[in-house]
Amino acid sequence: MPSVLIIGAGLAGSLLSIYLARRGFDVNVFEARGDMRRESMSAGRSINLALSDRGIAALREVGMDEYMLAEAVPMTGRMIHSPDGQTRLLPYSGRSGEYINSVSRAGLNIALMNEAEKYPNVQIVFNERCVDFDTKRGEAAFASGRTMRAGTVIATDGAGSAVRKAMMNGGVERFEFSQSWLDHGYKELHIPPGDSGSFLLEKNALHIWPRRRFMMIALPNFDGSFTCTLFLAHKSDSAEEPAFDQLTSEDAVREFFEREFADAVPLMPTLVEDFFANPTGNLGTIKCFPWSIGGRSLLIGDSAHAIVPFYGQGMNCSFEDVRVFDQLVEEHGDDWETVFDAYGTLRKGNTDAIADMAVENFYEMRDAVADPVFVRKRELETTLEQTYADYFSKYSMVTFREDLPYSVAKEKGNAQDALLMEICSKTEDVSSLDLADVRERLSQI
Ligand SMILES: Cc1cc2nc3c(=O)[nH]c(=O)nc-3n(C[C@H](O)[C@H](O)[C@H](O)COP(=O)(O)OP(=O)(O)OC[C@H]3O[C@@H](n4cnc5c(N)ncnc54)[C@H](O)[C@@H]3O)c2cc1C
Repeated sequence: MPSVLIIGAGLAGSLLSIYLARRGFDVNVFEARGDMRRESMSAGRSINLALSDRGIAALREVGMDEYMLAEAVPMTGRMIHSPDGQTRLLPYSGRSGEYINSVSRAGLNIALMNEAEKYPNVQIVFNERCVDFDTKRGEAAFASGRTMRAGTVIATDGAGSAVRKAMMNGGVERFEFSQSWLDHGYKELHIPPGDSGSFLLEKNALHIWPRRRFMMIALPNFDGSFTCTLFLAHKSDSAEEPAFDQLTSEDAVREFFEREFADAVPLMPTLVEDFFANPTGNLGTIKCFPWSIGGRSLLIGDSAHAIVPFYGQGMNCSFEDVRVFDQLVEEHGDDWETVFDAYGTLRKGNTDAIADMAVENFYEMRDAVADPVFVRKRELETTLEQTYADYFSKYSMVTFREDLPYSVAKEKGNAQDALLMEICSKTEDVSSLDLADVRERLSQI
């Protein structure tokens, strides 16, 4: 059977190896890091992730959805924490059964690798870092000195992809590439479980402390703890504007958190230690094209389109990549050039759309959830979803409609948002609105 070399055994690479193994390909996966099942190591970025319908759909096809959801914590809405400590739940959807799931990144990655290795035609090789890719010969070179060729090479080596770099550095003519960074970085912090594993905040919510220029979020973990992420500007021009470059002493960190997140501080006994021990990560968007070189290689997942995490879709989108790719393999077999071309044509508009929506959602989470007009709009959308089974907000289209391309969700969702924000800016009380009239106006979009 034809062979496939996958570079990177992260989330997309591990899932892809299962899909390809099921189709009978001989699959070698070369991973830069050691085996996280045997060595204690950080899972990399973000301890937990929001898994939603697009990701679940891809896991379902290989029988992994129920297994993963059994260890997930459902999150039914955003719990907004005001500066005065008041909280308010904004449901993600007006329909019951529509929620997102907090899963462990390492747990998911390990489960996918374990599943992949059940197939005799899959081999995962660790501590093999790809350092170059010969785009003419289709040959990958590794730091160990090894070189590898296969029927084709699929790069799932994440945002810093070595294969993409080779394509960019002259390997592909007129290769388009763009990278843009947010001024904000992120740092992970920790809320431990309470007595006998209890949750010290509402368990079934994604918690947000929106503070306009910055925010903190917290996602529940299965063991009763929460992983918090502070999103804050790297640098600030004024003393009044908080930024990472100002939080350089224990006192400054304590004072900042006590002022901005007073209700969370008593739950974070290791706040200061964690703050200085954990790295500050960067947040950026990478777009590039083409993703393939003839039938010799293809980029999938973050290697092709790294996005900021504010829609909780990077992994979900990468899993959807794998599912769409597999449908094309079903159609065209190992005619890789045809599969890769069709894949790029189908996916590029959609991955660009989610990349743009993810940046927009940063501003929504940071600023808008604290804006009364936006809060009224979410209230109205929830009522619309409760009343009309066929109405989907932009968030719902992205998160709960695996059948709808991201590009459609973006176009339709933005038009809906503009209309609803206009309606909600003119009333203080959304319950006084004529719902049927609002629905009628929305249906004309
Ligand atoms: C703070 C944060 C929060 C996030 N939250 C969410 C969320 O809630 N929901 C969601 O859907 N997405 C989320 N994401 C996005 C998600 O993490 C990524 O989209 C997803 O991990 C992409 O999977 P991947 O397999 O393409 O890349 P990765 O998961 O990065 O895997 C790449 C793999 O390749 C390996 N590798 C790298 N370089 C080489 C090399 N040269 N040779 C060999 N191997 C290599 C790496 O070690 C790794 O195992 C978040 C991201 C961040 C940064």
